[in-house]
Formats: sequence, structure tokens, C-alpha cells
Amino acid sequence: MFLRDLDFADGSGSPVCATRQNLAWTYLNGRTIYLCGMEFASTAHSNPRFVANLLIHEGLHSLGLGENPPRPPEIDAQILRRCR
Ligand SMILES: [Zn+2]
Repeated sequence: MFLRDLDFADGSGSPVCATRQNLAWTYLNGRTIYLCGMEFASTAHSNPRFVANLLIHEGLHSLGLGENPPRPPEIDAQILRRCR
């Protein structure tokens, strides 16, 4: 499982997390997923399914999937459709 090979780091000090709209992010082809601190933790607690899909989304970016296009909701829709 690809996600097991990735690293996870606290991204709470990063500008991406500072927007508070993001719960996690990574660089294209990056091996590290940055988790946005308490927002990530509390959402993972209250909605683990949502966070699982979010990590798959970021995992796809680390595999090289760009964005815009496809738009983030389109990526999420594919994940929901394929990962039931
Ligand atoms: Zn994305």
C-alpha cells in the first residue's frame, strides 16, 4: 500500500495550513504529507472516512497527479467512486 511508504510531518506552521482551509498538503511527487495540526487531528477524530480520502488525495499528488486540472472536487469524486 503506497501510503505506508510516505512520511507524515506536522505542517501546522506552513502557509498552506495557515489558510485553515487545508487539512493536509504535499508537493507534487513529494514523499512527505504535511498534516495541519489540530484541525487535522480533530477532523480525523470526528470524520475518519473524510480524512482517509484526503490522505489518498494527497497520496495521488505524491504519485505525480497534478491539479487544476483536474479540479480538487473531481479528484475527490474519483476517490469516493473507487474507494467505497
Ligand atoms: Zn489536491
